[in-house]
Amino acid sequence: MSKRDYYEILGVSKDASKEEIRKAFRKLARKYHPDVNKSKEAPEKFKEITKAYEVLSDPQKRSQYDQFGEADPNQQQGGFGGFSGQGFGSDFGGFGDIFDQIFNGGGSRRRNPNAPRQGADLQYEMTITFEDAAFGKTTDIRVPKEETCSTCHGTGARPGTKPETCSHCHGTGQLNTEQNTPFGRIVNRRVCPYCKGTGKIIKNPCRTCNGQGKVKVNKKIEVKIPAGIDDGQQIRLSGQGEAGVNGGPAGDLYIVFNVRPHKVFKRDGDNIYLEVPLSFAQVALGDEIEVPTLYGNVRLRIPAGTQTGTKFRLKGKGIKNVRGYGQGDEHVQVRVVTPKHLNEEEKTLFRKLEGVKNGSMNSENNESLFDKMKKKVFKAD
Ligand SMILES: [Zn+2]
Ligand SMILES: [Zn+2]
Repeated sequence: MSKRDYYEILGVSKDASKEEIRKAFRKLARKYHPDVNKSKEAPEKFKEITKAYEVLSDPQKRSQYDQFGEADPNQQQGGFGGFSGQGFGSDFGGFGDIFDQIFNGGGSRRRNPNAPRQGADLQYEMTITFEDAAFGKTTDIRVPKEETCSTCHGTGARPGTKPETCSHCHGTGQLNTEQNTPFGRIVNRRVCPYCKGTGKIIKNPCRTCNGQGKVKVNKKIEVKIPAGIDDGQQIRLSGQGEAGVNGGPAGDLYIVFNVRPHKVFKRDGDNIYLEVPLSFAQVALGDEIEVPTLYGNVRLRIPAGTQTGTKFRLKGKGIKNVRGYGQGDEHVQVRVVTPKHLNEEEKTLFRKLEGVKNGSMNSENNESLFDKMKKKVFKAD
């Protein structure tokens, strides 16, 4: 089943106060607590209510939910388009309604054609640079979506006229046909073909939207990329999804970020990683080097005798946590580069160096690699 909005689960509005949320939770919890409610759905329902309350009762979790939506963006479908569309299903009317009422404990899923319904949520993938992800940015995007027609304000009727109640179904959107059979009277319910289930007839359709009440637009929307957002994370723009139906609220727009890789930095969570190539002389003798960070170059002292693979931590030079939990570090890893092409002079110097090292046998550190290997292999003698 599709995930439901926490506000919808508790039956409160998006700007509900803490007290309203608490009241709604207590009322539902009393109704669905598995000790009281023995129905099969009660435990699941109770869990759902508790989870929604847990998030909405905590101001920080609630603001994060409002900003980012649910935690795992990977559960959502990729691409662009509605993924919680609530249009008329093919099961409109019929026995489904009755079963829904029995098994869902109250006709919450009953579809009244004139009831307000929330518009579909939209998902938009946005590719951003490494730096924009780290520092945040405000930018505009254009999102193709359906909006309420401004000419007819969503009624679908030409200005000055009104949709009329369908005389065939009396506005219910459904037609009942009764049939007497040997087993009794059977009532068949079907979608009213005259109004297509809307319960309304539009005699003078609005010219702007051809009676649809909605128009397709390429809407410019301002997106505030939060500083610290990472690849695959999302934010939620409440009410920026598809327009609602019959005066219902609009859906939400989810923006999922693809962060482009950086030329030199790698990122893991809030930490960033950088590899610096150093010469043998630099690591052997020690040096002070300049390393790039997201905040400009900094000086880093390389102690004499540094090995390849050694890591240095630049505290606080990582990325600001997107949810406000501190700041990452930059980790600098040393890679010693072996020279590939030596000229004669350099070769002579290296031979001289190796000669000096072989000559002084007073310390184990000065043994040549060959000496060390010999020791290991010929341990017996
Ligand atoms: Zn219109
Ligand atoms: Zn009708």
